[in-house]
Amino acid sequence: MQDAIPEYDLLVVGGGVNGCGIAADAAGRGLRVALCEQSDLAAGTSSASTKLIHGGLRYLEYYEFSLVRQALAEREVLLQAAPHIVWPLRFRLPHMPGLRPRWMLRAGLFLYDHLSRRNRLAGSRSLRLGGDSPLKPELRHAFEYSDCWVDDSRLVVLNAMQAAGRGACIMTRTRCVETRPVAKGWQVTLEDCNRSERHQLQARALVNATGPWVDRFAAMQGESSNSRSVRLVKGSHIVVPRLYAGNEAYMLQHVDRRIVFVIPWEGDFSLIGTTEEKYDADPAAAGISADEQRYLLRVVNENFRARLSTGDILHSFAGVRPLLEGESDDSTSLSRDYTLDFENDPAPLLTVHGGKITTYRRLAEAALQSLKPIFPDMGPEWTANAVLPGGEFADQATLFRELATRHPWLPDGVLGRWVRSYGRCIEALLGDASRLEDLGTHWGHGLYDRELQYLESTEWAQTAADVLWRRSKLGLRFSKAEVEALEQRMRSVL
Ligand SMILES: Cc1cc2nc3c(=O)[nH]c(=O)nc-3n(C[C@H](O)[C@H](O)[C@H](O)COP(=O)(O)OP(=O)(O)OC[C@H]3O[C@@H](n4cnc5c(N)ncnc54)[C@H](O)[C@@H]3O)c2cc1C
Repeated sequence: MQDAIPEYDLLVVGGGVNGCGIAADAAGRGLRVALCEQSDLAAGTSSASTKLIHGGLRYLEYYEFSLVRQALAEREVLLQAAPHIVWPLRFRLPHMPGLRPRWMLRAGLFLYDHLSRRNRLAGSRSLRLGGDSPLKPELRHAFEYSDCWVDDSRLVVLNAMQAAGRGACIMTRTRCVETRPVAKGWQVTLEDCNRSERHQLQARALVNATGPWVDRFAAMQGESSNSRSVRLVKGSHIVVPRLYAGNEAYMLQHVDRRIVFVIPWEGDFSLIGTTEEKYDADPAAAGISADEQRYLLRVVNENFRARLSTGDILHSFAGVRPLLEGESDDSTSLSRDYTLDFENDPAPLLTVHGGKITTYRRLAEAALQSLKPIFPDMGPEWTANAVLPGGEFADQATLFRELATRHPWLPDGVLGRWVRSYGRCIEALLGDASRLEDLGTHWGHGLYDRELQYLESTEWAQTAADVLWRRSKLGLRFSKAEVEALEQRMRSVL
């Protein structure tokens, strides 16, 4: 006898921040949810962002007040929901003679400070830069303001965990290859990308949360494809040895009116980005071009005392944004806001366009609101005051002290990284371990087998890249030989 086809209320296609956010919200409202991701969670744009939870000071120039207000408010919500992976960051915006005038920067920051309520983030101030500034001596004046830092790929994983904790079925390395409208909604064919096996499921409604693949996925659905025109724009970052000792980030202006961030990253590094390049190829293949490298180095060298060359680049990554086409050819001016398109014919389909990491939770709420006619009995909004897995604590320093007292044998470096990655889930990771030897084989740089087992059993990690680049950023430290050893270890359990 043939196996029965599993039935769900909602199938979410795409395991980026938007797909996982929608899956978590829907599962918490009592819907039976499945999510499929063709690669690893956050393998697309959601691990290649600048990693800021920000209002987007620059968007004020394009009068996107509603987007900025919503995003500013989300900073406080996400600080509360995930204090392990989201924290405040001060930014310095140097005044550059000949570029945006001082009054304009001051007015923008006044709006930034007052568009939304701030509980935990300090307001902006103007600043004289002294001899200890890492910037060139002619840059003598700056403004300082607050936004937040986020570990983008871990935010995605935590949402997937939250969804799974509320009953959702999360399928990674599973591509949606065919959708067919049927009487009860959709019949969908999924392909297990590890085994090239296919299976089917039925869902009452479908969400296309495939980010830069949105048009490809819509095209696969033929007639029901949506009609919006999307422009793919690539943005790249470089990573160099830490440029200066301070904890502040810099927002640099350039003559093309774009801005480049320089952000302290993972202790020993500076993250520099981003660029904007039109892109037409497969989003999975996006990489930095020589032009983008030169552009980023030039902007840094124009502003900082230190001089960087391509030899200083330790790592780079690129992500692709699907921006809705507007009147202008200039990608910088295209909206970063999201749009949701709901169609009920031939079957319920919600398509997500655009968005920001910052506003994923609000996007998910709006997505569920669009689906209300299909699921009139689903529960109400609930995520505004919910805590993401591991986030049940007030501040990192207190959690560190508490855990260091309880597990004095844990090296400080490992515990510090774990607090910023897992928060209170550290206890689940540790299980009954009571000494360092209980953590098993050491794979390098504080990564032990116990952590790998946790990542495999709880966070859907399957490969060395999943662990080194998306569950952690240990890839910045691992040597080629250490990566190879880890790859072998991960293959042996697949
Ligand atoms: C350079 C850059 C910097 C950015 N910086 C910031 C920032 O600092 N702050 C901020 O708030 N926002 C930022 N953003 C925006 C933010 O990163 C994106 O809005 C967000 O990550 C989009 O998430 P998503 O879930 O829509 O797409 P994605 O993360 O790309 O997820 C889509 C997923 O769908 C999967 N998929 C595709 N087709 C299929 C299929 N057929 N079956 C199964 N799975 C499929 C893909 O593998 C992919 O993982 C930045 C964007 C870029 C490009």
